[in-house]
Amino acid sequence: MRYIEGVSRKRKIVFPEYLDDYIAQDNPVRVIEAFVDSLDLKELGFVRAVPADRGRPGYNPADMLKLFMYGYMNKITSSRTLEREVSRNIELIWLLRKLKPDYRTIAEFRRQNKEAIQNVFHQMIALYKEWDLFGKEVVAIDGSKFRASNSKKNNLNKKSLDRRIKYINEKLNEYMSKLDENDSEEIDSRTPDKEEIRERIRELSNRKKTYQDYNDKLENEGINEISTVDKDARLMSVNNNGVDVCYNVQTSVDNKNCLIVDYDVINNPSDQGQLYKMSKKSMAALGVDNIKVLADKGYYNTEDLKACEEENIETYVSKQVFSNATGNREFYSDRFIYNKEEDVYICPAGHKLSCTRKGPVGDRTKRLRYTNSSACKACEFKDLCTKGNRGRHITRDVNQDFLDIVNKRTEENKELYKTRQMIVEHPFGTIKRGWGLTHFLTRGLDSVKTETSLAFSAYNMLRAINILGTKEIIKRLKGNSFFFNLFRLHINNNWMINAL
Ligand code: SF4
Repeated sequence: MRYIEGVSRKRKIVFPEYLDDYIAQDNPVRVIEAFVDSLDLKELGFVRAVPADRGRPGYNPADMLKLFMYGYMNKITSSRTLEREVSRNIELIWLLRKLKPDYRTIAEFRRQNKEAIQNVFHQMIALYKEWDLFGKEVVAIDGSKFRASNSKKNNLNKKSLDRRIKYINEKLNEYMSKLDENDSEEIDSRTPDKEEIRERIRELSNRKKTYQDYNDKLENEGINEISTVDKDARLMSVNNNGVDVCYNVQTSVDNKNCLIVDYDVINNPSDQGQLYKMSKKSMAALGVDNIKVLADKGYYNTEDLKACEEENIETYVSKQVFSNATGNREFYSDRFIYNKEEDVYICPAGHKLSCTRKGPVGDRTKRLRYTNSSACKACEFKDLCTKGNRGRHITRDVNQDFLDIVNKRTEENKELYKTRQMIVEHPFGTIKRGWGLTHFLTRGLDSVKTETSLAFSAYNMLRAINILGTKEIIKRLKGNSFFFNLFRLHINNNWMINAL
């Protein structure tokens, strides 16, 4: 028996092989090449898209963009790893024609071309629209938390700052008293001498000053927290009831092929208030004037839902069900039935709760309050229903009649609504669990948007390869490229106008 043998390293090759021979015709790396070559990098805003007349030649931004596209499609995102790969990865050697930029050049390209890289994503969307890859009827919107380049230790709020200042004060007092101790006292070898103590006092005083400045900043700017490494990142809830310093990445995904239509990155942990904005962005990207939008209950916001309705955006959003203080499911707010004729709620015990506060409870909540304290006092279910001494109250949004329409629509289209998770989980599942891209390498909102753009462009490109195949995409990209460019330029201008 024998094993399959490799080729001898000393064997002479009569006819030298081409580098191109190592890359199969249907290798996805050829799609990257064709896609980037079809772009008008100057129009997209890339720095040095036109080579300088004088001086040392720099790298072509097309080559650098190809490198990043390849990196994100192959889970290689750091500039140092990309630097290593350009020397040993045959696909990259082919793609870059043996160019070997160092990690500083690679990182600098990403830093200098933030907006242009984001434009590439939109250019790809315009192209996919021409290829009919979007259904343009239904999009699912969702948000996911990606860890920022900022540890929890470097995220400070008033409480943690006060705790640190208190600790420093205690240490300073301790060192001061050591200094005051009898000079003549024998000091063993492990005890810091006076100069060392003074040095520690100086260092602690500097730290205290920094923390006090942070405290002032919190107060002056009316903010709750400061991230000292990535100033834009915020503490957010993540899976399994944990918290981490993150960004909230918003996505809208078309239901036809689970392709990402548009995205945004925010530093607010809540999805509230994002529904209308993301829906409008999706409509502009798809070039449609009406759309169905699926979103989870985190997006349930009256103002947003109303704004969507006014702009032909048909929303399917799960409503918020508020539990009661006792946690008994039988007495949740959704068990209270509203009677429109009498303007009362009928509670599970059959009593009527009438409106006891006619005006909205403040501008923020815009809710009416319904109570029946006398019935509650004598109710045998009181302990199961509420913990309040004065009985149970139910609040009603002043726009509840409108919200009921949205609720009814969502309820009557359960099958459509159920597809939401499948649609939106496809990109997040692939990028976070499949590729392991759960955290950002760069800092600042603008930079993390660029990273997101690269990851989402890579996802969309791989999806298109799965749907159409490598050869078909290359054929489409190479054929009629002049007219594609004209078309995409037109679409891009429209997209920008609509987005404004
Ligand atoms: S406590 Fe009040 S609201 Fe609750 S079931 Fe009894 S009567 Fe109804």
